[in-house]
Amino acid sequence: MCVLCKMERKMEENVRDPDTGVEAGGEDSLVGNVSKLQVTPPGYTGLPRKGHLVFDACFESGNLGRVDYISEFEFDLFIRPDTCNPRFRVWFNFSVENVRESQRVIFNVVNFSKTKSLYRDGMSPVVKSTSRPKWQRLPAKNVYYYRCPDHRKNYVMSFAFCFDKEDDVYQFAYCYPYTYSRLQHYLDSLEKRNLDYFQRELLGLSVQQRRLDLLTVTSRANLRPGADKKVVFLTARVHPGESPASFVCQGVIDFLVSQNPVARVLRDHVVFKIVPMLNPDGVYLGNYRCSLMGFDLNRHWQDPSPWAHPTLHAVKQLIVGMNDDPRVSLEFYIDVHAHSTMMNGFMYGNVFEEEERVHRQAVFPRLVCHNAPDFSFSSTSFNRDVVKAGTGRRFLGGLLDDTSYCYTLEVSFYSYMAGVSSVPVPYTEETYMKLGRNVSRTFLDYYRLNNLITDNSLTHIGLTHIGRDVLSYGRLANGQRGLQDGRKSEKRGSGNRGDC
Ligand SMILES: [Zn+2]
Repeated sequence: MCVLCKMERKMEENVRDPDTGVEAGGEDSLVGNVSKLQVTPPGYTGLPRKGHLVFDACFESGNLGRVDYISEFEFDLFIRPDTCNPRFRVWFNFSVENVRESQRVIFNVVNFSKTKSLYRDGMSPVVKSTSRPKWQRLPAKNVYYYRCPDHRKNYVMSFAFCFDKEDDVYQFAYCYPYTYSRLQHYLDSLEKRNLDYFQRELLGLSVQQRRLDLLTVTSRANLRPGADKKVVFLTARVHPGESPASFVCQGVIDFLVSQNPVARVLRDHVVFKIVPMLNPDGVYLGNYRCSLMGFDLNRHWQDPSPWAHPTLHAVKQLIVGMNDDPRVSLEFYIDVHAHSTMMNGFMYGNVFEEEERVHRQAVFPRLVCHNAPDFSFSSTSFNRDVVKAGTGRRFLGGLLDDTSYCYTLEVSFYSYMAGVSSVPVPYTEETYMKLGRNVSRTFLDYYRLNNLITDNSLTHIGLTHIGRDVLSYGRLANGQRGLQDGRKSEKRGSGNRGDC
């Protein structure tokens, strides 16, 4: 029995979902994952046969709460809601075995808590199997997303699939999984390289005693006592179901520890502090948005509790301490997320009274846009939504002084539009990581633009391809394409409140 099955059944009954208005009690009150569940036709009493599918989600980041047999070819699947918070039902991740060769099935995922979805635009679940271990997206033509009268008019995502190898175990998920263990293995392998500009520390433990890792990437000289530090702080996976954020974050780390000359110059001038998994319990448990205890940690930055939100509490204390240290200049805070309704990579920023500060804030996303073909400046927006007051970006935007920039970096769960083509290109694990590498190298462009790094050894790369003159502040002030004023984006942003 997995950890979820053992958990106390502490569900809030009859909570209405803000998106659907549907009560979350009743059939959605699922608290455990299915465990090697063999689904046979109703009334069947004989021995299980090949083709009687066995569903399982009792593994790391697994999520499937219930399976209903509809016919030999069709099954209704129920997402197990976030632990201690039945409002959130989006992430799924389960395996199927005991299949027959050429067995065709339709799976209906029937209890999503969100209505808007990229499934309307061509997104599809990912699949792998024992003999084909690389995750791939299912063909979009096999996926249907519609309002279903049989399920209280909920939105249902159905997909058709044909099993082809009897001995394979198949695994299906909402998006490419990136588990807590995968991160631990990655960090272990980085540590083994004994790089003198890479440090890994234990910043704290989660409620279930998992590691909250803090990474520091910088040249040794920047860490000597008494040295002044320019700090860039990055966090990811506060929302556990947003697995693309981990690929982006790994891309950032891979680039910063690499031998790329841009990375070397950045390490000489900047201290990068990275918390790659802010909600390790939520990731382990297969939640979409919450921690073990059902908290959306990105709504608790104002007053995190050391016992209820220990990971957030530890990160906030560290940042507040840095902000109070006269030798530290905390220049960027970036929190990485994935977005369930928008395309591309893009950012959310804050709204300020002083116009000059507003314009300065637009510089970094503009530079990322030059470096990353999948990043959209026109989707980038700046807001002061009341519901987002407890987010890292909003809270730290109010705490840090006007030389600091705080952003949420979002990346689509599905795709990006590249160049002039209007055909969406689905993201892969590799292209998510590439976005991270492109964001990293943009820091050098930023610092050179502001004459904070004047390293001339890099004349052949860096800003020449952008053209310094194009990016002067004056030009930014005149051509604010995509830079929204606060009120406008509050209105526009309301449809995307579910994320970040
Ligand atoms: Zn998020």
